[in-house]
Amino acid sequence: MSTLPTRPSTVARSAQSIAEIETQRLRRRTFAIISHPDAGKTTLTEKLLLFGNSIEIAGAVRGRKSERTAKSDWMEMEQERGISVSSTALTFEFAGAQVNLLDTPGHHDFSEDTYRTLMAADAAVMVIDLAKGIESQTEKLFRVCALRKIPVLTFVNKVDRRGRSPLEILDEIERKFSIEPVPQNWPLGSGEDFRGFVDLHNDSVHLFDEHRANRRISSKVVSWSDLESIQPAIRPDLIDATGEEVELVRMAGASLERSQFLGGAQTPVFFGSALTNFGIEHFLHGFLKLCPPPGSRQTPEQRPAEPSSNFSGFIFKIQANLDPRHRDRVAFLRVCNGMFERDMEVTIARSMKKIRLSRAFRIFGQDRQTIEEAYPGDIIGLVCPGEFRLGDTLCQNEIVHQEGLPQFSPEFFAVLDCTDTARRKQFDRGLKQLIEEGAIQVFHDAHAKRRENLLAAVGELQFDVVRYRLESEYNAPTSLSWRPYKLARWFNATAEQKSNIKLPYSAKLALDQFGHDAVLLQSEWDIKALHRANPDIRFEEMRVTT
Ligand code: GDP
Repeated sequence: MSTLPTRPSTVARSAQSIAEIETQRLRRRTFAIISHPDAGKTTLTEKLLLFGNSIEIAGAVRGRKSERTAKSDWMEMEQERGISVSSTALTFEFAGAQVNLLDTPGHHDFSEDTYRTLMAADAAVMVIDLAKGIESQTEKLFRVCALRKIPVLTFVNKVDRRGRSPLEILDEIERKFSIEPVPQNWPLGSGEDFRGFVDLHNDSVHLFDEHRANRRISSKVVSWSDLESIQPAIRPDLIDATGEEVELVRMAGASLERSQFLGGAQTPVFFGSALTNFGIEHFLHGFLKLCPPPGSRQTPEQRPAEPSSNFSGFIFKIQANLDPRHRDRVAFLRVCNGMFERDMEVTIARSMKKIRLSRAFRIFGQDRQTIEEAYPGDIIGLVCPGEFRLGDTLCQNEIVHQEGLPQFSPEFFAVLDCTDTARRKQFDRGLKQLIEEGAIQVFHDAHAKRRENLLAAVGELQFDVVRYRLESEYNAPTSLSWRPYKLARWFNATAEQKSNIKLPYSAKLALDQFGHDAVLLQSEWDIKALHRANPDIRFEEMRVTT
């Protein structure tokens, strides 16, 4: 009698394969780029992929962006609005490491999606335009990284263009974020005078060559002391001015300590030009040295002391309609511990339901590539039959709980109603589904007799997405009526504290979709008043759902 071959259980995994999982973990780096639109995120992504030997993918990044007015990816609305809301991960190899770059939506109305995607990253790269400095979207995203203690590297882009002085940019980073910027290189001139950069680690000068933009060639490197004699074309006054700035930076600044960077006290700053491909290779080497390998997301008390082969991961994004031919939903999972193998059986920690993961993909736009195995830090797309919720932990053999996904203060609030009473059931079902996907948040007035659906989101377009999907997928027409709230603050309080809470005149007590207490407010000024009137209650702008 023959027996069917079975996959080895992780329990029985040999010590050798635990070591293999650890080797794979240590060679991975998973990060996301945070920036304001037009700072150069797409261009930088392309150039990183160029160095990672993924030129054909690099073309696709640009292609996807320039397709804005052409054929829509998966949603008519996306076509009308010219925005891309899909998000996945790009993978490339560099210097023996596997780098996973999490793609985040560029449009600020979908920043809630970006906030959650950041939770799957072990570090973030903040791209700043030298001419514009820190812009609003970058500022918001940096604060999310700071709240979640995600270390941030800085790339100051467009040094080939005339911009602000690098010293001014460093000063702005320090002033706005209370973090110490530690430059790793220093530009030699800018704009039409841009000639290269000084590597502050060894005083070598990387010379700029504008014809290298789409090539993977390294810069010509000379020593600082030889610069004048070897490169007579570089004006002596430019060399003198750069020398003085470098001296100043050295005297004023501390050196970079990895622990300070990981703890959020320092950010290494790299200057470069994504468009001309200059400074990218230097940045990549620095990035690999500094960015931590994938960390476990388990709560501190549950974190295994030893590397474990038990698989676990969490769902940080659910995306519907990636493929318009099948109205399917894909859950994006970040592997945190152990090894994922196709067909493995896992437990959803929330529902304790067992599920077989037979359809797992690496997803790029419309393309899907089946994944056989994945390691900590990897992102996999799971075609989900409606079992998963945002923030779910999937685990094998032993039930673990991850830290949970944060919910951020919305900035827009509106009551949503179904205008066709005959479609009420479908409306309720659709809305429940969209809330589980994280497409929208919902609050209820804590005192109201009639339960209204007060929807809330960080971006206004999220409401359009919800209405569009209710209408197209559930055939439920809706009406929207805006409410004047601009912020929410969550709080934990005793029953007595809650009954004595003092609210500003225009604020409202509410419960969120998980039943947590919150106050809805109309202005920053109201927040100050709320804090002043209730000094014994802690109000929070972000809530971690576990
Ligand atoms: P994103 O919106 O952040 O993805 O920005 P893009 O990568 O699309 O860049 C916005 C614009 O800035 C485009 O026209 C790019 O060609 C340009 N750009 C990006 N990087 C550089 C750079 O290093 N130097 C210059 N001069 N232009 C750049």
